Amino acid sequence: MKKEKKENLQENDLMEKIVSLCKRRGFVFQGSEIYGGLGGTYDWGHFGVALKNNIKQSWWKKFVDSRRDMYGIDAAILMRQEVWQASGHVAGFADPMSECEKCKMRFRADQLEDAKKCPECGGKLGEVKQFNMMFSTRVGASQDSSATSYLRPETAQGMFVNFKNTVDAFHPRLPFGLAQIGKAFRNEITPRDFLFRQREFEQMEIEYFIREEDWEKHFEYWRGEMLSWMQEVGLDMAKVHELEVLKEDRAHYSSRTVDFEFDYPFGKKELFGLAYRTDFDLKNHKLEYIDEPADAEAMSGKGKSQKIVPHVIEPTFGVDRAVLALILSVYVEDEKDGEVRSYLKFKPNIAPVICAVSPLLKNKPELVEYANKKVYEPLKAEFGRVAWDDNGNIGKRYRRQDEIGTPFCIVVDFDTLTDDSVTVRDRDTGEQERIKVADLKKYIKEKI
Ligand code: ATP
Repeated sequence: MKKEKKENLQENDLMEKIVSLCKRRGFVFQGSEIYGGLGGTYDWGHFGVALKNNIKQSWWKKFVDSRRDMYGIDAAILMRQEVWQASGHVAGFADPMSECEKCKMRFRADQLEDAKKCPECGGKLGEVKQFNMMFSTRVGASQDSSATSYLRPETAQGMFVNFKNTVDAFHPRLPFGLAQIGKAFRNEITPRDFLFRQREFEQMEIEYFIREEDWEKHFEYWRGEMLSWMQEVGLDMAKVHELEVLKEDRAHYSSRTVDFEFDYPFGKKELFGLAYRTDFDLKNHKLEYIDEPADAEAMSGKGKSQKIVPHVIEPTFGVDRAVLALILSVYVEDEKDGEVRSYLKFKPNIAPVICAVSPLLKNKPELVEYANKKVYEPLKAEFGRVAWDDNGNIGKRYRRQDEIGTPFCIVVDFDTLTDDSVTVRDRDTGEQERIKVADLKKYIKEKI
C-alpha cells in the first residue's frame, strides 16, 4: 500500500513536471488563462506549434505524400445538421452523466468509483442521463431549428460527405483513401489529464475505402502502418499496447475496433484507434461507387462494372494525445555532478528547434556579428527551425535548450574569429565538437 502511494506520487509528480515545462518553455498554455481558464481548452505557444506541425508533417508525408492511393482533404468544420443525423451522432453521440443533488456538479457516470456518491462533496448522485457531446450552434440569423448546426465531433464525416466529389474529380480505383487533419470538438463532461481529454482538439484521420471481402486484410495492414508511424515519430513502443475493444464498448458505427493504448502517468488509456466502420457511413449518406473491373479483366471482356457501397477501415490519431505521449516518451532526467537536468530527447526531425546559435558573450559585438551573419542567418535560411539564444550564461542556455529538446547548441567564441570553427554541443551526451563553419549545414543534414 505504501509503495503504491509512492508510485502515485511519482506519477502525479511527472505530470506536474510536464505541464510546468510545457508552460515555462512556451509549448502549451491553459486556454483563456488570464480570465481563470476555460476547462478542456489549451493554447499552443511557439514551440508547441512547431512540435505539432512536425508531427502532422511526418504523418502527412507517410500516409499521403509517399502513397499513390491517398487523397487529402480539408473540409469545413461547420456542416449541415443532416450530416450528423445521418451519421448517428445526433441520436447517439452521448456519454452517461450523473449530477450531484447537493453540489450540482456533473460527472461521467462510467468513470465513477461509487455510482451513488458524489466524489466532490459526498452528496447523493441523481439518475444517470445521456449527455450528447456535440457543441450545437446556429448558422445565420434565423432562430429556426433548421439553422442548428454542430461543431464537428470527428473529422471523419468531412471525408464521407466528399466521397462523391473525390471520385468524380480523381476517378480513383478501390482501394483508396481520404486523409484529413483538423480540429474536432466534444463537450466532454469532465475534461482532464492535460492534453488527454479536451473539448477542442485535433485529429489526423484516414478513411480507407475497400471491397467488403477484403476488410480483414486491410485491417491488419493498417494496424502495422499505425505501429510503424508511432515508432518513426519516436514514441516509447514499450508503453504502447493494443486492446481489442469489446462489442459493448465500441462506437455505434464500428464492427471491430483495436485501440492503441499508452501508459500515461494517470493510467493505461487510449492513444489512437483503428476501426472497421463497414459501409455504415456511406450507406447512411446514400453514396455509391461504380466498381470497374481491373484492366486485364476488362480487356479480356470478363469482368463487368457493378454498383457497390465500399466498406471503410479508419485509422484515427489524436494530435494532442500524440504530443502528450511523445513528450512523456522522450522526457529524461539525469544527474551530473550532483545537478539534475531534464531534457526532451526528440528525434531531430520532430524537435521544435533543430539547433540554437549563441555568441559566447552577448556584449562582444564582434562575436554577436559573426554568430548572426555567418552562422545563424545561413542556418535559419536552410532549416527554418533555428533559435537565437544569447540569454544568460552558456550553462543556462544549454539547460533551456535541453528542456526545449534542441539536439544541437552552436557556440561562437573568440577562437571562431580566427579559425572559422564553432563548438557544437550534443544534447544527449553533452559532448562538444569543433566544426568548421563552412561544414555546419552538411553536419546538421547528416544528423537529421
Ligand atoms: P475516449 O474513449 O478516450 O473518449 P474515443 O474512443 O471517443 O476516445 P475516438 O472517437 O476514437 O476517441 O477519437 C479518435 C481519436 O481522437 C482518439 O484516439 C484520440 O486520440 C482523440 N481524442 C478523442 N477524444 C479526445 C479528447 N477529448 N481530447 C483529445 N483527444 C481526443
